[in-house]
Amino acid sequence: MTTPVRLRPEIAALPPYRQGKQASPDAFKLSSNENPFEPLPSVVEAVRGAVSLNRYPDASATALRTALATRFGVTVDEVHVGAGSVSLLAQFVLAAASVGDEVVYAWRSFEAYPGLVTVAGATSVQVPLRADGGHDLEAMAAAVTDRTRVVIVCSPNNPTGTTVSTSEFESFMAAVPDDVLVLLDEAYAEFVTDSTAVDGETLTELHPNLVLLRTFSKAYGLAALRVGYAIGASYLLDAARATAIPLAVTEQGAAAALASLDHADELLARVDRIVLLRDQVRRALIDQGWTVPEAQGNFVWLATGEHTATAAQVFADHGVVVRPFAGEGVRVTIGEPSSVDKLLHAAQQVADLTSR
Ligand SMILES: *Cc1c(COP(=O)(O)O)cnc(C)c1O
Repeated sequence: MTTPVRLRPEIAALPPYRQGKQASPDAFKLSSNENPFEPLPSVVEAVRGAVSLNRYPDASATALRTALATRFGVTVDEVHVGAGSVSLLAQFVLAAASVGDEVVYAWRSFEAYPGLVTVAGATSVQVPLRADGGHDLEAMAAAVTDRTRVVIVCSPNNPTGTTVSTSEFESFMAAVPDDVLVLLDEAYAEFVTDSTAVDGETLTELHPNLVLLRTFSKAYGLAALRVGYAIGASYLLDAARATAIPLAVTEQGAAAALASLDHADELLARVDRIVLLRDQVRRALIDQGWTVPEAQGNFVWLATGEHTATAAQVFADHGVVVRPFAGEGVRVTIGEPSSVDKLLHAAQQVADLTSR
């Protein structure tokens, strides 16, 4: 008989990361908010050009940070690049929160948040979304105590798609103490068309405790290469750099991100097409009788409640893999235009099945 190794009990109890279901080859994978477009030839070329596989990458991704600094009108030290914005989230939580500290965020929101907080040893304080699927920022500000070290605001919110308005966010920032780190997770910023929505880009100078998180995974279609970035005060980014696992951003990822910035117009034109399709899909779902929250990312949310497992199966039967959240709803990515008919047929069938 061997004795099991003693692990941190909260880690042993943590479910390992589970990816959205892999779709069968003929099904549409609309479960991970991926971009359906093939990479631009120029981006593929940039990756091909980064061939020194025997050398470590530039640990600080200087070229990419310089380009982002120019793009955002900040200094290079006010830009930090990580292997996906998920790893940046982890770095900032580790930098600011530990045992006995609290991290406040809305719930339901991004699946990664609870695990990252637990790994840091800190405690999650989850503030329920409003009935319309939006953040209840007043309640979130009220949940801040002297134990709070980090607040995460996700706009557009994954999985409901709602944004926080600029005025709501300004009142929220005024209510949160200056010594609490606020992470504004804007993974879907490029898909936002609502002009009242908060745009972190304009705010980091106004709020020294605010850090903006963005990614090349969604709008720029580089999910495979793992590149995200943070914009904020350099001493805060230095703290994140101190907790980071070094050299996680590959030369290939950084080169692809840099080439994507060079071709931003072309890539953002693709985003416009996804946005158009998103708005059409949302309208069609509303016509079917669904209540769909304002959708500002590249996905829509269907609150299927107790029928969620059934709904996911109906979608699968129609060749569409969605992301179910048991007892709450399904998140459906806006993907290939040819997936839309199937998506809408499935949604209609779910509505018919569950409206009785
Ligand atoms: C997809 C996503 C991310 C990060 O994705 P990376 O691929 O790690 O950059 C971060 N936040 C939210 C809310 C997301 O949906």
